[in-house]
Amino acid sequence: MINVDAKDIDYYSLGFDFIETKAMFISDYKNDKWDQGKLVPFGNIEISPAACVLNYGQEIFEGMKALSTKKGDITLFRPEENAKRFNKSAERLLMPTYDTHRFVQAIKQVVIANKEYIPPYDTGGALYIRPLMIGSGPILGVKPAKEYKVIIFTVPVGPYFPQGFMGIDLEITKEYTRAAPGGTGYAKTGSNYAGSMLAAKLTKEKGFSQVIFLDAVNKEYIEEVGTANFFAVIEDKLVTPLTSGTILPGITRMSVIELAAKKLGMVIEERDVSYKELFDDGCIEVFCTGTAAVITPIKSVSIEQQKKVFSGGEPGQYTRKLYELLTGIQRLEIEDEFNWVVVV
Ligand SMILES: *Cc1c(COP(=O)(O)O)cnc(C)c1O
Repeated sequence: MINVDAKDIDYYSLGFDFIETKAMFISDYKNDKWDQGKLVPFGNIEISPAACVLNYGQEIFEGMKALSTKKGDITLFRPEENAKRFNKSAERLLMPTYDTHRFVQAIKQVVIANKEYIPPYDTGGALYIRPLMIGSGPILGVKPAKEYKVIIFTVPVGPYFPQGFMGIDLEITKEYTRAAPGGTGYAKTGSNYAGSMLAAKLTKEKGFSQVIFLDAVNKEYIEEVGTANFFAVIEDKLVTPLTSGTILPGITRMSVIELAAKKLGMVIEERDVSYKELFDDGCIEVFCTGTAAVITPIKSVSIEQQKKVFSGGEPGQYTRKLYELLTGIQRLEIEDEFNWVVVV
């Protein structure tokens, strides 16, 4: 099911797989400036085999969602934050920045052009939005391209929890790391993902959903969960690893911290979190956050022969409350007092 008409999609059985939609946005950078950019039919692009992205991986991306509300509005969640992070990633990979206002405008254009692909409210699904930038110009020596493309396309996706709000089983890996100090861990670049696929494949063969990566230096402090940020509730405090360069600074992460502090009155600790703390009695809930994962409860954590199941395998009370707050605001069912939601 790749190329299907919007009206033929069964929005009630969508997963997280690629499906073509009607339109994409494309903008070109040449002679040191971006063109206006335009909507075009979704389709293949042509680039030189010597493109920097194909040879040296000069690529960055973002992940966002457009949601339908009960009243039929279309919402985006903190899109300016994605625009800003896109530019931070661009700077790390010596790519040109993209005007944040134009970024958000382009997102809205693509969403409107593909609005018949936004899953209906009652499915719990979303239109996933994928902005990316590639070094498209030809290059031979290792240096940044002179030409770039920004592309924004969309894919309808199902709810993250088709069978309800269930937890996942994760394995802590000491064998593979995702990012090292001084590297590109804080940038949303495809190369971070290319290097993490083997760890994910091996852990899935053992029956886990994903790995938890530890820091590359001590192999002790939790970094993140492959594609999502990590949280633990330890003695009623919300604890999460500091974003000090090796961790992707998630927008969901930032929002959850604010909700926990301001709406639940929780004490927040952003600090080094040893994986050993998860096995202490004080650690009662763990979950991970991201645009795709939203807030996903972690049912169990394993390392070597050790395994811990959290709150009897059910999502904990803090996890549940934070999930209800976040998704309630995103679909405008709870007052958006932080001004996070943008109606398209
Ligand atoms: C995108 C991403 C996240 C989550 O970020 P959000 O802004 O919350 O979607 C976490 N970790 C990694 C590695 C990511 O690429």
